[in-house]
Amino acid sequence: MSKDELWQALLAQIQFNISKANFATWFKNTGILQKKGPQVVIAVPNNFSKEWLENKYNKAVYKILHGLDDEIREVKYTVAKLETVVQLPQNAPLESDGPVSQLEFQDFKVNKETNLNPRYTFDNFIVGPFNELPHAAALAIAGNPGSVYNPLFVYGGVGLGKTHLLQAIGNEVLNKFSQKRVKYVSSEKFASGIVNSIRNHNIDKFKSLYKDIDVLIIDDIQFFAGKEKSQEEFFHIFNSLYEKNKQIILSSDRPPKAISAIEERLRSRFEGGMIADISMPDFETRIAILKTKSQEKKINFSEEILEYIASNIQRNIRELEGALNRLAAHQKLNNRAPDIETTKVLLKNLISSPSKTTNPDKIIKAVAFHFDVKEKDILANSRKKEIVGPRQIAMYLIRMELKSSFPSIGNKFGGKDHTTAIHAYNKITKELENNEHLNEEIGLIKEQIYRL
Ligand code: ADP
Ligand code: MG
Repeated sequence: MSKDELWQALLAQIQFNISKANFATWFKNTGILQKKGPQVVIAVPNNFSKEWLENKYNKAVYKILHGLDDEIREVKYTVAKLETVVQLPQNAPLESDGPVSQLEFQDFKVNKETNLNPRYTFDNFIVGPFNELPHAAALAIAGNPGSVYNPLFVYGGVGLGKTHLLQAIGNEVLNKFSQKRVKYVSSEKFASGIVNSIRNHNIDKFKSLYKDIDVLIIDDIQFFAGKEKSQEEFFHIFNSLYEKNKQIILSSDRPPKAISAIEERLRSRFEGGMIADISMPDFETRIAILKTKSQEKKINFSEEILEYIASNIQRNIRELEGALNRLAAHQKLNNRAPDIETTKVLLKNLISSPSKTTNPDKIIKAVAFHFDVKEKDILANSRKKEIVGPRQIAMYLIRMELKSSFPSIGNKFGGKDHTTAIHAYNKITKELENNEHLNEEIGLIKEQIYRL
């Protein structure tokens, strides 16, 4: 994709996420000035726009650009005049002016009270052999919260529909029982809420937020691992709701017994209800998902293209959607659906290698690549700040992804002591509690690890 095509594709996507007025104001006379390796420099007409884009839209811009070309890892803005100006798409959206938050760009319609995104419903949740059980449990709960399966614990790998299913329950409960109070929260938000309220000496106020909830949904509970204080408070909140027959719904990327560093009493609480896993969709289901989603986008892709995507993208539904979005952006620019050859080019860097395994070298490579430092520097003894950080992250990831022992990790990094590895692991774990940016960075590196 050329610079202009890339920017066109970005504009095509971003216009659906913000109001027409904002779109015209902030994206007029913008374009890509330069694209060099992982870095993209965006030209903006003045300092005011620069500041605004940096503060308000950078996350979204980055997300979309990275989605279009996963080589892109850094977006910068600079005041400059472009030789050619990319035209804004004509039929900009009719979306009302919603507050667009920097954090959850796509979720700008999220209900402030419940944190639920209305886009996640049972209606648009596709059911197949891979998710039948959790879906059935979810439906039962939505019809009768608090009295069938409690808690419901859904687990499965990334992008397989945990968040969608959990939020669908919440949305359906609100539909059916408008007086019920539902709250959705990610475990990171929950944990940082606890940390902050302890710091500000108002933990009781925090707890009171959860006192009268009928359906409490906590997503990605694996992030509680090692956060003792959060677990402690959660345990109390869990118990008091549970005793009142309130519904609790949890998700994680792994089953309760595989979450290390989680208190035993909490684990046994989780195991006391219904545990259901979402596995990977088989080929037929992937085709069904692609068909449904392309109908939603009102685009007809040939069978050949759908089969190409379904055979090459197997890992999860988010990636299937990503592939469709990329093709849809192309279709929008060219006014016709891409043929199979174009599809192959467009999806080249989305198609993953068959191996889903990784090893320490791949992890180090991905970290070095992400931070643009040399692998051999990470492995050596440099005390430079720009090396120490990435090294600690590499150690952390090797521990998290491979469960390697601390002595073997130390060894790998130029024969360091196991305490160095433990220190790195603890430091990053701690930092992840409050540092959303780091969370995201690590997410991106992980994506890369399994692609190498
Ligand atoms: P997870 O929370 O497991 O990482 P998500 O719930 O965020 O996964 O799902 C990733 C994307 O795939 C979302 O856009 C979601 O709407 C979509 N998706 C996942 N499962 C399904 C499904 N069964 N039917 C339709 N869309 C799905
Ligand atoms: Mg999720």
